[in-house]
Amino acid sequence: MKKKIFIIGSGFSSLSAACYLSKEGFEVHVFEKNDIIGGRARQFKSNGFTFDMGPSWYWMPDVFEKFFNDFGKSAKDFYQLKKLNPAYRVIFDEKNQIKIGDNINEISKEFENIEKGSGAKLKSFLEESRENYNLAVTDMLYKMPGKSILELITLKTIFKVNLFFKNIKNDIEKRFKDSKLRAILQFPVLFLGAKPSNTPAFYNFMNFADFGLGTWQPKNGFYDVVEAMTKIAKNQGVIFYTNSEINKIQVNKGLVEGIILNGKLKKCDILVSGADYYHTESLLDKKYKQYSESYWKNRTWSPSSLLFYLGLNKKIKGLNHHNLFFDTDFDKHADEIYTKPNWPTDPLFYLNITSKTYSHTAPKDHENCFVLIPLATNLEDNEAIREKYFKIIVKRIEDITGQNIEKNIVFKRSYCVNDFKRDYNSYGGNAYGLANTLLQTAFLRPKIQSKKVKKLYFSGQLTVPGPGVPPAIVSGKLVSDIIIKNERTF
Ligand SMILES: Cc1cc2nc3c(=O)[nH]c(=O)nc-3n(C[C@H](O)[C@H](O)[C@H](O)COP(=O)(O)OP(=O)(O)OC[C@H]3O[C@@H](n4cnc5c(N)ncnc54)[C@H](O)[C@@H]3O)c2cc1C
Repeated sequence: MKKKIFIIGSGFSSLSAACYLSKEGFEVHVFEKNDIIGGRARQFKSNGFTFDMGPSWYWMPDVFEKFFNDFGKSAKDFYQLKKLNPAYRVIFDEKNQIKIGDNINEISKEFENIEKGSGAKLKSFLEESRENYNLAVTDMLYKMPGKSILELITLKTIFKVNLFFKNIKNDIEKRFKDSKLRAILQFPVLFLGAKPSNTPAFYNFMNFADFGLGTWQPKNGFYDVVEAMTKIAKNQGVIFYTNSEINKIQVNKGLVEGIILNGKLKKCDILVSGADYYHTESLLDKKYKQYSESYWKNRTWSPSSLLFYLGLNKKIKGLNHHNLFFDTDFDKHADEIYTKPNWPTDPLFYLNITSKTYSHTAPKDHENCFVLIPLATNLEDNEAIREKYFKIIVKRIEDITGQNIEKNIVFKRSYCVNDFKRDYNSYGGNAYGLANTLLQTAFLRPKIQSKKVKKLYFSGQLTVPGPGVPPAIVSGKLVSDIIIKNERTF
């Protein structure tokens, strides 16, 4: 008889695990508390606008492609992808704006125009970054389930050991003098969830992901990826249950017995949880938890966010698909996220407009805007505060573009700390899990396999490899590999 695996949650890590485990012949059931599949990458449509609720930067297309190849498919079998040019616009003020092109030569020329000599320096920096990308993604990512330090020690990593002990901010500042170029080069590590000054220089491979591999966009938004993975899973027999919040994990003498759903025990042989790790442990009796409250309290969490989904009844000029409003102090905002957590005095923010690339994501001559302000976790969240920041960012967009926006808003929805907690059982309302700092890398992250409960496993952005969609997809593969190895009877 087939062994029965239950998976909690339907984010990218859970979808990935569901695909790999069902391919191996297990009977897989996925339980999702929300009414649609996709976790933080859910999508909603309203008044003719389509909004991805979470991820919007499609980076590292090779990781997506590898996933589909593992099932005899390619991304293009499921969705249309466009490489964006410009990849994004960085706004320092009305006049100082830099458009990042879709290839290294074009970007180097742009750098050279700003700082003499920086074009060549950028090329050599990206050569190093490409080497690190190949080492991190090709050689290490899929082979590091985070069990032991030995996974990190290879001939190639020994030569790179110094890059783990210096931070990326210093490394970039040694090479580039112009503050705009420094900010642009530090932007990609924000995806890892920590301050650049607290992120090892080895992670400069994200700069190659950015400039070398480019920024892509699926035709109907990021949700195209969720639908593609769900299709593979369903074709392999996976059964999905939405509106199904798991209230307890049942353990019998140290072995997983099943889950409690709507007050009833449902039995399984193996349990994987792709829900936030802290929440999953809260579903266990105290003696089965691996990590204490103080362990979680002392982690470096990725930011939470204040998000606005806005529909406009006109087109905005002078903006692109991805726009970074870096017109305020980067370091000050970072301190207000990590060092002295508080609502930011003068926030940086990000504005995404998918209708700039695919007009069908908004009604004709309309624009769909997604605004993200990164925030510390666990901040007080209420309507009045959200509205205060809404006014601030609308004014900034209006001042910089020289166009009226507020009176053209025909759709508006906000999303913040309380929503992350309520919708995803997210610790402190974090948006993308535990940051990748030196002390939260690889074997130093929460473990994929429970040390206290047999046949209980974890996937997702709080375990290995870390935050972001590509790592979440890899996490589903890593957990599946361990289960397959453990369950092999020969
Ligand atoms: C606003 C935002 C912007 C982002 N931007 C990007 C980006 O541009 N590019 C990028 O690569 N990444 C981005 N990310 C990060 C990326 O979206 C995540 O890292 C990834 O989607 C996490 O997947 P996951 O499987 O770990 O978890 P999740 O997506 O959080 O899935 C966990 C699931 O478990 C469910 N769940 C929780 N508790 C229970 C329970 N008791 N019972 C049943 N189900 C439960 C939740 O509802 C959820 O569906 C962004 C994230 C956010 C929030």
